[in-house]
Amino acid sequence: MINTQPIMEQYDVAIIGAGWSGLALARQLKRNNSDIRIIQLEASTEFKAKIGEATVESTGHYFLKKLGLANYLYRNQLPKNALRFFFDNEDYSLPIEKMSEQGTTYIPPHPAFQLERASFESALTDMNREDDITILQGARVTGFELDHQNEHTVNFKYQDEAHQISCKWLVDASGRAGVVARKMKSYSRENVPNHSSAWGRFSGVKDFDSVGTQEWRDGASSRFLSTNHFSGHGYWIWFIPLKNGQTSIGIVCDKTKVKNPPLKQADFIAKLKEHTAIADLMEHAEIDDFEAWGQLAYRGKGIVNRERWGATGFASMFLDPLLSGGGDVIAMANDNLTKLILADLANTDREAAQMALDEAVPYANEVVNYYYQFLYAQLMNLYPVLECAELCSPVMAYINATYFITSAWDYMAGNFSDYEHFAKNDFIRRGNYGLEMLMQRQILESLDVLRSENRAFVRNKEGFFETGADLYKYYIYQMGNKGKDGYRIDLRLKLFAECFAIITGSKLGLPNFGRRRMVQNVLNLPMILEKPTFGREDLPQLLVSMSNNLTQELQQTTEHTVLVKITEASFSNEMVEVSVVGDKADAKQLKIIKKTANGIWMRQQEYIDQVSFVPVFLRYARQQPLDIMDPMHPVRLEANELCEV
Ligand SMILES: Cc1cc2nc3c(=O)[nH]c(=O)nc-3n(C[C@H](O)[C@H](O)[C@H](O)COP(=O)(O)OP(=O)(O)OC[C@H]3O[C@@H](n4cnc5c(N)ncnc54)[C@H](O)[C@@H]3O)c2cc1C
Repeated sequence: MINTQPIMEQYDVAIIGAGWSGLALARQLKRNNSDIRIIQLEASTEFKAKIGEATVESTGHYFLKKLGLANYLYRNQLPKNALRFFFDNEDYSLPIEKMSEQGTTYIPPHPAFQLERASFESALTDMNREDDITILQGARVTGFELDHQNEHTVNFKYQDEAHQISCKWLVDASGRAGVVARKMKSYSRENVPNHSSAWGRFSGVKDFDSVGTQEWRDGASSRFLSTNHFSGHGYWIWFIPLKNGQTSIGIVCDKTKVKNPPLKQADFIAKLKEHTAIADLMEHAEIDDFEAWGQLAYRGKGIVNRERWGATGFASMFLDPLLSGGGDVIAMANDNLTKLILADLANTDREAAQMALDEAVPYANEVVNYYYQFLYAQLMNLYPVLECAELCSPVMAYINATYFITSAWDYMAGNFSDYEHFAKNDFIRRGNYGLEMLMQRQILESLDVLRSENRAFVRNKEGFFETGADLYKYYIYQMGNKGKDGYRIDLRLKLFAECFAIITGSKLGLPNFGRRRMVQNVLNLPMILEKPTFGREDLPQLLVSMSNNLTQELQQTTEHTVLVKITEASFSNEMVEVSVVGDKADAKQLKIIKKTANGIWMRQQEYIDQVSFVPVFLRYARQQPLDIMDPMHPVRLEANELCEV
């Protein structure tokens, strides 16, 4: 639809850029105040393919509930079947059906979408114009003057003519150009991941649901709809399906580990095809477009300023594509910008409006900066183990489940734009962050042990299929309910303790360690906080404690006095040593006693059945340093250096 609206001299809000972030913000503002006058200035005249195609659940919620896009998205874009990870062997030679795999069997109940950006932005542009938002395509912003007490002015070139408009609020949504943010020196590259990326859209990629064996195909409803991940030494690869038949394929390299990350098209394709399974998927594929960035991440000072300008999307900050968090940051930024801009415009008392803004701005920025830092910590827990099925699978399941129980839930409940709630929960966030750092150390140490014992790749070729969906089945339908903070803290702690125990089991090389009830009862939150690097030297004490517990439980079932000993061998042969003290039991009685003891020993437990340690956590959380989430606080632990590949 061609814009026929006249250009006025004055607007309430001017948005530079009409990509995803700017288009969504304009729509959100207008849906909440139909009288607001908005202009969007977009340099480009065409809708091009863009990166940022896979969304996650908070973004899905944002699209459906806050932008009213359900009808459009379900009719015009692809639903997403969550994240899926395939684990290749060391020389990248496994066919896909022989690789171990972590992913869902069915599409999760909270919607997320795979976006073909050109058609998405084209549709949003039409919708915004229908809502009476002025969008000028081919309008390049050439300069601006900030004057928050009166009005900002914006200069742009449109149809070969120079124009100037004024506005009360100016929002930079100009992507990496960062028209306002760069001039205001908002960016920093300190303490961010050193990752590069290359990507392209391909036609003719084979269908994930038609390759492999029938048995393998029967294992999941649609792998095609997932964001499918492969990994190699220091890098990972994504496959994202798009509704126009193309597949988005890209690689992200950790530059501290990959010496020459591919930044040219031929190197990129050659790198992908080093993997036998990927070469097969791409056998008949043709590349349609290509792009590469030598450095992905940067930080921004925030999303909003007391001088009545803001930034969203790429113009505000960018962390990393792993876990697809870019859309969530846009959703949070836009929610907060909408709240602040509309409240400010509605307040006729300018002095009071400025005071309200001064109070709200730090919170709005902290919300987004917190999210950036927390996601960074979780990414640093995941990156080192992407190649190792044994560790990556439980870590990924844990990250997914904790995303649902914390970030996504908080987002859906509106807690990220409720500053009272946000302030009250400051110590909880610091506590959760502290736990992530403990988890990181244990993950890195476990990886070191697996590498030194040549076990890091053993489970990759088992062809196992693990789904983390079991972990969120207890609360998935309650997500977004308000007032369930204590319940959520409890579940999150239990998820943490289970994942910690599973990782520790890998470190110790003991089968079925983490899910055993006996282990979970002893290696519980208080013990983890006491021994966060739990290892072989701590095992004898654990075995004694578990033996005492099992003795006590067994004693409830018999009149004989019993004594149980759990040894390392008990983990592989599923048997404990049982002796009867004092009066003798006959052979039949002894057999029953042993059977009962082994039965108790073999019992597995779902994480939800663990004892609650909320008060212990609250104490721990209050002890965490106030600056633990400071942007300059190290997120990547030194131990990571031990794990160089
Ligand atoms: C490798 C990679 C993978 C990613 N994967 C994901 C993912 O899977 N999921 C996810 O959620 N996010 C992902 N992201 C993040 C995502 O791409 C961004 O969050 C998103 O594209 C930002 O959109 P935007 O609207 O801010 O920027 P853009 O889409 O870049 O839009 C900015 C617009 O501003 C216009 N503009 C620029 N200069 C001017 C000017 N002077 N005047 C007027 N207009 C101007 C441009 O023409 C452009 O249209 C990924 C990012 C990268 C780098």
